[in-house]
Amino acid sequence: MKYRSTRGGMAPLEFSDILLEGLAPDGGLALPESLPKISSETLEAWRELNYAQLATEVLGLFITDIPRADLARLTAAAYNNQVFDTPDIVPVKPLDNGLSLLGLSQGPTLAFKDMAMQFLGQVFEYVLAKRNSTLNILGATSGDTGSAAEYALRGKKGVSVFMLSPHGRMSDFQRAQMYSLQDDNIHNIAVKGVFDECQDIVKSLAGDLDFKSRYHLGAVNSINWARIAAQVVYYFWGWLRATTGPGQQVSFAVPSGNFGNILSGHLAREMGLPVRRLVLATNENNVLEEFFRTGIYRPRSAAQTHATSSPSMDISRASNFERFVFDLVGQDAARVAQLWQQLSQSGEFDLSGLKSQFEARYGFVAGVSTHADRLATIRSVHAATGVIIDPHTADGVKVARPFVEAGIPMLVLETALPAKFNDTIVEAIGQPAQPPAHLGHLGSLPQKVEIMDCDTALVRRYIEQHAKV
Ligand SMILES: *Cc1c(COP(=O)(O)O)cnc(C)c1O
Repeated sequence: MKYRSTRGGMAPLEFSDILLEGLAPDGGLALPESLPKISSETLEAWRELNYAQLATEVLGLFITDIPRADLARLTAAAYNNQVFDTPDIVPVKPLDNGLSLLGLSQGPTLAFKDMAMQFLGQVFEYVLAKRNSTLNILGATSGDTGSAAEYALRGKKGVSVFMLSPHGRMSDFQRAQMYSLQDDNIHNIAVKGVFDECQDIVKSLAGDLDFKSRYHLGAVNSINWARIAAQVVYYFWGWLRATTGPGQQVSFAVPSGNFGNILSGHLAREMGLPVRRLVLATNENNVLEEFFRTGIYRPRSAAQTHATSSPSMDISRASNFERFVFDLVGQDAARVAQLWQQLSQSGEFDLSGLKSQFEARYGFVAGVSTHADRLATIRSVHAATGVIIDPHTADGVKVARPFVEAGIPMLVLETALPAKFNDTIVEAIGQPAQPPAHLGHLGSLPQKVEIMDCDTALVRRYIEQHAKV
C-alpha cells in the first residue's frame, strides 16, 4: 500500500514515511493510492475477532511496511483492558427507539481521540526505534486532543511531548487529567494567555524550519493519516456488533468538527462495509452542515466561530474535509488543488453541481444541534433510559433521530463521557455525572506543570533545554 497526495504532487510513499508528517509537500493530504475492498465473506470471518485482532486485520490493509506479527503486538498494546476500562474496548450500548451508542470513550481521557491516539503512540515508538530517530511533539490544546496525545505518548522511548495550554482556562478535570502525568517525557506548559496565543507560539516555532529540524519537532494533529486509519477499525467493529449476518445495513451518526471521525466512516463505507447513512452532526458552528445542505463550502474566521457547550466541535475550518472532496470530484487531484486555491482567494467554493451525489452515492446527510437541543436531548435520554450522555454525543443523538429507520440500527458515536462536561450536565438534569471509579482520586494527585509568560522565546528556550535529540 502506497500513499499519494490529494493535490497530486507527492511521489508514492509507504505508511511509515507519511506517519510523522503533517501536510504533503504540495499542501495536500495523504491518501491510499487505492482503497482495499472487503468482501462479505471476509466480514463474516471477522465476527469472532476481539478488538485488537480486528484492528490488526483492518490496519494491516493500510500498513504493509510493518510485519504482521509486529503490527499485532502494537494493536495488542494499544487496545487492551489495562488501557481501556472495558474488556470490549468499544461497547455498544442500546439507548431507545432504534438508537445505540458506540462507546468510543472508555480510554484514559474519556474521549474518542484515545481510540486513534493509543495506536499512534505505539506505532510512533516502533517506527522511531527502527529508524534510530527521535521526535519532539509540539502542540497547543484547550483540553481534549492534548491530553489524549500525552496519555498515548507517556513513557514512550524516543518521543517527548511539549503541550501548551491556556493557564487558568481549562476545567479542573482537564487540568488534573493532563498535569498529573509525572512522566519525564511529558512537558505541560501553561501559558498566561488564551488558546489562540498558545497556537500562535506553536506556529511560530514550527515555522522556524531551522529550529524545527534541529529539534526534530513534530505534531499529532487531526490530519495525521495513522489516526484516520485507526478510526476506520471501529466502524467495522460497530457493524459487526450491530448485525447478525451478511449485507445487513447500519447507519452511523457522528458529532463532527474537523471531519476526521466521519471521514473514517466514509472510508469504511467505500471499502464495502454495508453502511446506509453517515449522519453528520454539527453544533452552532455549522460549516459542514451548510455544505451538505447547499454544496457550498464556506469556512469561517476564528471571530465568527462560536464558543459552544460542545467545545470540541467548535471549528471554523474542517481540516480533513479535503480528503472527502477528493473522492467527490472523482479523485481528480488537479481539481482539488484548484478548489483549494479558489478557497484561499475567495473564501469559499461551490460544489452544488454534485449535490445529488451526497446522499445517493455517499450516504451523507447532515443536521445542526444547538445549546437548547443539547440540553433537551441530555434530559430526554436521561429520563427515558437513565443514561447520561455528554453534550457532543447529544448533538449526534439529536441529529440522528429523524433518520432512524425500522430494521436499520443507528449507532451514535459516543465521542466523550459526560463527566468531562459537568457544567452542561448539571444545567440539563440538575446533577453531575460521576467520573469512572478509577478516576475518583484524580483531583488529589500532585500536578506537574511549567507556568510561563506568553512569550515564544521562553517556550523556545524550554524546548532547547528539554528536547530529545
Ligand atoms: C474531537 C472531537 C469531536 C470532533 O471530531 P472530528 O474528528 O474533529 O470531527 C467531537 N466530539 C469530541 C468529544 C471530540 O473530542
